[in-house]
Formats: sequence, structure tokens, C-alpha cells
Amino acid sequence: MKWHLPSLSQLTIPMRENFHLRKHTPLPSTIKILETLYPLVNWNRVDFYEGLPWFTPAVAPYVTAQALPNFYSLSRFRIYLKKYDESRAQCLADIVHEAFHINQAMSFGKGYGIGFFRIWMLFYISVFFRNGYRQNPFEIPAYDQEFRFLQYCEKHNLHGIQPAVRESAFNELAQQKSLVFKKIDFKYEEGVLDLIGGFLFCVFITVVKAPADLLASIVRIILPRVRPATNVQETKRQTDTSHRQVL
Ligand SMILES: [Zn+2]
Repeated sequence: MKWHLPSLSQLTIPMRENFHLRKHTPLPSTIKILETLYPLVNWNRVDFYEGLPWFTPAVAPYVTAQALPNFYSLSRFRIYLKKYDESRAQCLADIVHEAFHINQAMSFGKGYGIGFFRIWMLFYISVFFRNGYRQNPFEIPAYDQEFRFLQYCEKHNLHGIQPAVRESAFNELAQQKSLVFKKIDFKYEEGVLDLIGGFLFCVFITVVKAPADLLASIVRIILPRVRPATNVQETKRQTDTSHRQVL
């Protein structure tokens, strides 16, 4: 895993640029894939955004995709991708990965809650304290799903959904027992203290998000206007999936 301290401009530019993100409308075939793989999820409650939340580059500079509850909603979720390009299988696999988290989220109390505070987030944060990111019981199956999906694409010579995927491809996908998830298996096995820590963290984020957004909206006005560098390293980072996390 590669880490380096981001420069001030790397932190501040995304904060400025990402404060008002562009909503992305996935191609109908993308939604069809998600409906096929996760048939119990209500995809009308999920919004897609190009770019990452303004705070992400500061707290997790290598994150390229995220699934989060909508902080100002009781029911909605958001999937963020740094860049959408649904002609690429890896981009679809990223969406499939994040959508797996939405499936997890809606498996607990149907995904309802107050802003950030959803039962799924409570469990995710609680196990995160003990297991970290990659060995987190919510991440392991999400990565497994992503890799299985990529293998499926490779095997069936699907490089993306542009040009359009033939109709039978969705039927074949629906037959893949290892890719279709109706419910998730999760049993909380950590200690009570982790749960209390997770609870307090979720309460904290729920309460602090609105003032933080307000402060960020003020601060971003005075942030320097510098264009982000676009170089090979940046492109590589966008395609690197090993550092993705949902928080
Ligand atoms: Zn994940």
C-alpha cells in the first residue's frame, strides 16, 4: 500500500471543486446490472455522483469510490465515483462493489435512519475499530464480489456496457448464483465497547456534519484556485482499486 502526505493544494482543490458535486445518471444497463445482482435493493433511493465528497481527500486521500448514506435524509444513499466511465469493466466493478455496500445497508432496518446514523454504519464503524479497512467483514465480501464480477466480465468478454450489452447477457448474469445477493450474512461478533464506540462516532458525525458543511462552504470561498495536476500518477490512482473504502 502506498501512502504519501498530500500537499495543501491536493487537499484544498478537491474541497473547493467537490463541494457541489455533479449528479450522474447511470446508463439504464448499469441500473439493470445492479437490479439483477441486488434484487431487494430499492435503487430509487440511491443517487450517483461524479466526484468525492469535499471531506474525503482530507480524511482518506486514496479513496476513489464511496457509498454513504445521504447525510440529510432518512432513507437515501449515495454512490460516489471519482470518474464514471461505464464503457470500462473496472468502472462497472467499482459500482458493483459500492452497490454491494448499499445492499448491506438496506439489510439492516431497510437502510432507514437519521442522516449518517444507519444501523449498517453503526456496525461498519464498530467492526472497523477492530479489523481496520481491508479485513473489515463488510469489505471482504464487497471486494470478493468486485473480483468475481471482473472475472465474469473477462470470461464473457464484456469490456463494459458500451457498446450496448445484448439482452441475454443480463439473463446470464442473473443465473450467476455467486454474484446475485438477496440478503447478506452478518453476525456482530465484536465487543460491546466497539459497539459503544461506533454508536458515539455515528452520533458525532450525524451532529457535526451540518456545521462542518456550513464552515466548509465559507472556507472554500477563500481557498486558492489552482488547477489539479493531471499526470500519469493521477490516472493510475483513479484506476487503483486497492485503496477504496466506504468511509
Ligand atoms: Zn468497500
